[in-house]
Amino acid sequence: MLESSIEQTLSTPFGLAKATIGTYKGKRIAFMPRHGVGHSIPPHLINYRANIWALKELGVQQVLATAAVGSLQLPYKPGSLVLIDSFLDYTKARPSTFFEEGRVVHVDMTDPYCGRLRSIVKGAADELDIPIFDGGTYVCAEGPRFESTAEIRLYQSFGAAVVGMTTIPEVVLAKEAELCYATVCMVTNYGAGISPHPLTHEEVVESMQENVHRIRNLFFHTIERLDTTRDCRCPHAVGGQQPLVGNRDEAQEMDANGNALAQVPSSEGSDRV
Ligand SMILES: [Zn+2]
Repeated sequence: MLESSIEQTLSTPFGLAKATIGTYKGKRIAFMPRHGVGHSIPPHLINYRANIWALKELGVQQVLATAAVGSLQLPYKPGSLVLIDSFLDYTKARPSTFFEEGRVVHVDMTDPYCGRLRSIVKGAADELDIPIFDGGTYVCAEGPRFESTAEIRLYQSFGAAVVGMTTIPEVVLAKEAELCYATVCMVTNYGAGISPHPLTHEEVVESMQENVHRIRNLFFHTIERLDTTRDCRCPHAVGGQQPLVGNRDEAQEMDANGNALAQVPSSEGSDRV
């Protein structure tokens, strides 16, 4: 659905990142499948820093991400969409900041998933009559294995909604880069011990593919509703500390995981992010 799109490989201090860049109804959009071509990169090996840095360099300001997740609570049935608003970080071994080597920055996580952007996504979902849970906590596990039954029970006891493997460090890096960022989770299965049978990767991919067209419609409709006025705190998330790169006030819209920016889900597999 992107017009005049081109693929671009971008060089960053953290390695290469690839994006497809085009326009949609006059807005510049960058699409970045975080698992690579053919879903070849597992969640713990994704080069999150290269991806977010590349989006920032492209001028992306707002990022819409997708994530395939397991449900931790019965009301979040497989097939549900969840607009998460917070996270619990259970990753173990991922570079999770841009600020190293003498650059000390503590970024605020009061509103990790931009509330302004979330409200636009929710409004778009309502207009399209797409049911979506507005809010919920995402537990990010290290993976690539699925969670044990004991882990699922623990996460359930925290009241978290869903579990996945990709929001950390992506949401943190987006905030450090002063991007607005929101994630729509697609529930593909119940967590271990909730589901009556063992979980397979095929089951996750199958459920993802059923949801892809709904998410695509939701994201394109969201992009139509986006503008470049960002009256949230994201553009100043690192203000007063050490901005990652210079000020980018140009009114550029990209989706990308941006258009103002939005990530449009790939039709060939889950963006278990
Ligand atoms: Zn924001």
